[in-house]
Amino acid sequence: MLRRVVAVEIEVTKELNKLLCSVETAYLGIIREVVEYAVANNVTSATQLHGLFYSKYRQEYQDLHSHLVIQAIRQAAQIAKSFVKRRKKGLVSKTYPEVKTVSIRFTEFTWSYEQFIRSTAPVGVELSLLGGRREVWLRLHKRSWLYWWRVLTGEARLTSTLIIKRKTNKWYAIFIFEIKPKEGTPQSVISFDINENTVAVGRIDLLTTVNEVTNWNKQYMVPELYAIRTDFGRLARRYEKVRNAIIERLKPHFALPNGKYVNVTSTREFRKRVKRLREEERKVGRVRHVANELTRIPAIIITEELGENTQESMIDGIEKDELRHRIKQTPFKAVERAVGDKALERGSKLIRVSSYRNSRVCPIHFTRLERTDDWHVLKCPLGHLVDRDYASILNMAWKTTPEGWVKGVWWNLRREINWREHEDKSNPIIPHPIMQYIHAVLKTFTASEQSPAMPARGKPMNHHRRSQ
Ligand SMILES: [Zn+2]
Repeated sequence: MLRRVVAVEIEVTKELNKLLCSVETAYLGIIREVVEYAVANNVTSATQLHGLFYSKYRQEYQDLHSHLVIQAIRQAAQIAKSFVKRRKKGLVSKTYPEVKTVSIRFTEFTWSYEQFIRSTAPVGVELSLLGGRREVWLRLHKRSWLYWWRVLTGEARLTSTLIIKRKTNKWYAIFIFEIKPKEGTPQSVISFDINENTVAVGRIDLLTTVNEVTNWNKQYMVPELYAIRTDFGRLARRYEKVRNAIIERLKPHFALPNGKYVNVTSTREFRKRVKRLREEERKVGRVRHVANELTRIPAIIITEELGENTQESMIDGIEKDELRHRIKQTPFKAVERAVGDKALERGSKLIRVSSYRNSRVCPIHFTRLERTDDWHVLKCPLGHLVDRDYASILNMAWKTTPEGWVKGVWWNLRREINWREHEDKSNPIIPHPIMQYIHAVLKTFTASEQSPAMPARGKPMNHHRRSQ
């Protein structure tokens, strides 16, 4: 099940603010006390903690709804549990977890869930605050209406727990939607490969209409190769420079009497300034852009199997410090996760193939590619050049077909291959006809006069806008 979280600001009067703050204080107080007890006595079972504390807090906070007390104890149990677990692994230095902020959990008993989901256009909720229910108004926005529309059309469901949270003196109601994954008929096969500054994309359109099939021609038999610009590497380098400038500027303020400097990067001042740069937000924005672009229409999406420690294995053998650093900055996993998530939501399927020798083999002749002066361009011993990124995405597509799988994996083995053995090995996720189609397109492509022209950067790798 896919989850989407939507935060909506609450309209708060002075009086309501006071009320919410006192609920927060009581709720946080319970959590802190229970966590402290739980960690000190190594009791992290929610049931046990409930038994120990429930009546005590019911007495102490008589105005607080009993279900808020229950939730606070439960939340404390979770916090304590994860703290104890991390302590066992030696990941914590403190004796107690410091609970600074809190998300107040309103279950269906403490807010007007039933009423809310029966409404066609809900604009407010009722919350059980101290001394009874209060109606609060929501500042709904485009995104929240979008999800609400999905609830009405049956594509999504609103879960019954509402989270209320304060952030920089504003109050938010956080709704959690569960989205049903879509079932889509794939319209194309897309393979993608994440690089430092681009995401290379190879796309084979599937013939979905009779009309296209009758007009079957080469146009459809050529995989479209293009790149989406991300500039993760450039972004990282730019921010690195800015960060260094900040360090230099702050240094004089943190000089010690002996002439040395405090480690500026661990100061509050530094962290505050770095936060203002919003590097992470920019990165996330670009990651989302890639995911949107790749999942716009239902497709079979092929990508590399990323290992546990992708970055580490990628920089293995790379000497240049700068390049090592840049690869570390590229959010491979984040892109992959975002694409997988969006794919599920929009009815695409994500398929992972082994990354083995993806950019070392000629996707046309299955020979080993040689290096040239240009890192991006490789040379086939049969006399043509190949763009490294294009080789990689085409080889990924090949790997979904039995022939490509065998050749791509065993290209350098000088032994007899028993083709029969691999013939029936069809991919369980890709429907057989589609696999055959991918195979046919790649075969035609390798036989066409276009393939020697596929070499080094047929088109410039600029940001691509597809004309439909
Ligand atoms: Zn070749």
